[in-house]
Amino acid sequence: MSASVEDIELHLNQAETQVERINALNALAYAVNRSDPKRALMLAEQAQQLSKEGDFVENPYKKGLAESMRTLGMLKMYEGEYDQAMLACSVALDLAEDAGLQEVKPSAYNTIATVYRQLGDLSTSLEYFVKQQLASEQLGDRLDAAKATVGIGVIYFDMEDYAKFLDSSEQSLAIFRELEEKYWISLALNNTSFALFKLGRQSEALQRGQEGLEISRAMNDPRGLRRILTTLGEIHLDLGEAQKALEYFTDALAQVQIAEEPDLANDALMLVGQAYIRLGQPDLARQQLLDALKHASRYKLRRNMYDCHRLLSETYKESGNYSEALKHYELYHSIKESVFSEENAQKLQNLEVLHRTQKALQDAEYFSKQYEKSRQFNEQLESEVQKRTEDLRAAYEQLERLDRTKSNFISVTAHELRTPLTVMKGYAQMLSTDPILSENQKYKELTSGIIKGSDRLDEIIQTMLLMAKIDGKALEVFPEPQDISDLIFGIASGLGVALRGREQRLVIDESLRKLPAIQVDRTAIAIVFTKLIENAIKYTPDGGVITISGSAWQPAPAVDLPDNSIEIVVSDTGIGIDPEDCELILTKFYQTGDALRHSSGKVKFKGGGPGLGLAIARGIVEAHQGKLWAESKGHDEKNYPGSQFHVVLPVKQS
Ligand code: ADP
Repeated sequence: MSASVEDIELHLNQAETQVERINALNALAYAVNRSDPKRALMLAEQAQQLSKEGDFVENPYKKGLAESMRTLGMLKMYEGEYDQAMLACSVALDLAEDAGLQEVKPSAYNTIATVYRQLGDLSTSLEYFVKQQLASEQLGDRLDAAKATVGIGVIYFDMEDYAKFLDSSEQSLAIFRELEEKYWISLALNNTSFALFKLGRQSEALQRGQEGLEISRAMNDPRGLRRILTTLGEIHLDLGEAQKALEYFTDALAQVQIAEEPDLANDALMLVGQAYIRLGQPDLARQQLLDALKHASRYKLRRNMYDCHRLLSETYKESGNYSEALKHYELYHSIKESVFSEENAQKLQNLEVLHRTQKALQDAEYFSKQYEKSRQFNEQLESEVQKRTEDLRAAYEQLERLDRTKSNFISVTAHELRTPLTVMKGYAQMLSTDPILSENQKYKELTSGIIKGSDRLDEIIQTMLLMAKIDGKALEVFPEPQDISDLIFGIASGLGVALRGREQRLVIDESLRKLPAIQVDRTAIAIVFTKLIENAIKYTPDGGVITISGSAWQPAPAVDLPDNSIEIVVSDTGIGIDPEDCELILTKFYQTGDALRHSSGKVKFKGGGPGLGLAIARGIVEAHQGKLWAESKGHDEKNYPGSQFHVVLPVKQS
């Protein structure tokens, strides 16, 4: 044993990877769990910690965790912390199952079996020893399977089913003999001997006991020796050979390290006392028993205490000292009673703990099922969302295709209309300059009507072509330096007739004059401001005021515009726009209100156009790296809140 511990320690020191380290820690913890439980606990906890740190899903770490939990379970069981022992073993078994790690199972089953035995649930304990046996057999570990059989035998012993105890002991003995496991052979011999003795087969019992004794002596194993000496002593005592029994018990006592194994020492002391009683030497017996009693109370061995009192009472009775005999007899009863009630209370508490542990395990199972359900639900949801996103994307692509088709249609139509229109315009010009026709007032008016109509048509076609260019991102601008106030003054003077017709006032603020010259495509920007001022006239009642002001652009954090820009605002005192429409009116073909109100009049109050003007204006401004947007408090045809159209243009074009 010690050699293998050293080997593992060497492995631990030489471990290069985390997994090697965990394996060595676990192996060491397992190896020293009996001889040095404190160290084992520390090692197993360390292994547990490292395994948790590792990627839990990886098998080597799972294995590490399973092994450390198994060992921790075992150590908790030694400490009497049954709930923790059960939990740790259940986790270990679960992980072992998951990681396909069979080696951990037998010892975990063994711990669980032992816990149930401690709690007095012998049938469940038996069940787990059987599980240990099967698991070991599956692993081909015959030694461990035979050890499980020893456990099974012990449970039958507890159940006082000595025939089955004998069967199990014989079975395990045969395997230990085959494997030449001396320590275990002597243990199994002791058990068969004890079973035979209980079944009244004393000579066979003695024979087995003797054989065990020889092996233990040859092995120089004090534990085995003590065990077999006690059994032999008991058989001889039963056979009435008290002197022989005394020899065995005394011998057993000599094998005990009193300080290290106080319970065993006490058992031996009591058995010696018992032998003296049988030998009819109550005084000697009393001496031993008083020693045993002192020893038992020092180490708080309560069961031994009341047994000592019982035996002492016997010795006093033997000597005729009835009052002492009575006193010890009473003590025997009162201590026994209190021990039993304490033990029962403890058992009850343990059962409660066990119940809670099982409940916790059931809860864990329930939650893991719930978790699985919600995981599946999430997966389903995710695929649903994915499908919807896919549908949306397809729909959006379809819309985009339709929009492109429409733009192409407009562009082609506009081009096709242009040629015949140019012809028409040419002939109309010719008619208007014809000297014969110019003299006739009626023909003159008709010709001028044709010219006006074809000019308007030309304008509409131009607008459509411009929109198609903006849509196709094909609008080219040719910037040159321009004083923006000059440009606006020029446009304003061209709209004088319309303004007068609607009795409106156009105020061009002084601030416009202070603006620096900027680089713009003159023709294009003229279209922008013409459209904005025409709209202002159109959506403002008669007598209203239109104001145009300018300033240096104040950079704002969320607005992506060159710092060196100017801002021009066209405000009116008209019907205003719903804030939620402010963005929409800038898209093509969008008109608020009734589309049937469509009128080709440019400046008639509320006379709607084709819904392209603002989209074109924005397209032109953006082609200059600028921005155009609308602001208004709302649409109100009684109070006229007015609208403001902002145009920001960079001073220089990159
Ligand atoms: P339209 O050719 O119909 O005038 P626009 O693109 O120029 O198309 O304008 C779109 C819509 O924006 C108009 O139908 C109108 O409802 C609204 N609108 C434009 N300018 C103003 C303004 N100054 N005041 C109120 N509403 C306006």
